[in-house]
Amino acid sequence: MDSATILAEISRQVIVCEKCALHFSRKKGVPGEGPNRVTVMFIGEGPGFYENEQGRPFVGQAGKLLDELLAKAGLKREEVFITNVVKCRPPGNRDPLPEELAACSSYLDAQIEALQPLVIVTLGRYSMAKFMPNAKISNTHGQAVWVNGKLVVAMYHPAAALHQPSIRPQLEADFARLPEFIKMAKADLHLHSGMNEKPAEPEEKEPPKDQPTQLSLF
Ligand code: SF4
Repeated sequence: MDSATILAEISRQVIVCEKCALHFSRKKGVPGEGPNRVTVMFIGEGPGFYENEQGRPFVGQAGKLLDELLAKAGLKREEVFITNVVKCRPPGNRDPLPEELAACSSYLDAQIEALQPLVIVTLGRYSMAKFMPNAKISNTHGQAVWVNGKLVVAMYHPAAALHQPSIRPQLEADFARLPEFIKMAKADLHLHSGMNEKPAEPEEKEPPKDQPTQLSLF
């Protein structure tokens, strides 16, 4: 199955999913959106009020801020994939529960597998914890680490910057470094694809004209 078919199938399953209790209170499941193959994938926490209404990720105030931050990094929303660790809204925007994160993780894993992003940006501590279970976001934000062949960069959630204005300059500074992280991931890809290339065959030399050519026996 190609990436587009897999992503469409994940979306189809998410909107009817009943694997955890969040399906009781959701209005619309929010699978995520973006192209079928991307350089950068953003993973937030869970849908909020407007996302639950529209079935689309990051469409409220946090989404507006995300669009601004993307523009500062020279990226457009249409060229990245945006999703969350849980695809249905936790009631009252509470934190997702461990059993909800566990139930929903196979959708995110399948999306990562289909998209094959070079860089994964986690927004907030719940998506960061998927890749760096023991990290603290206050220490780790803005740093890039390799996890299973992907460059993972932890950042604050845009909603956190809206609630605590002191976080915003840090989030802006982290986004400003995104082009640098993309370049780093592309350089690594280039290096490894070069290592997998077949070494050039030594040039076959014609035998000197005055020596007889050995005849093949087969
Ligand atoms: S949050 Fe995930 S696991 Fe739970 S019902 Fe929604 S799609 Fe299914």
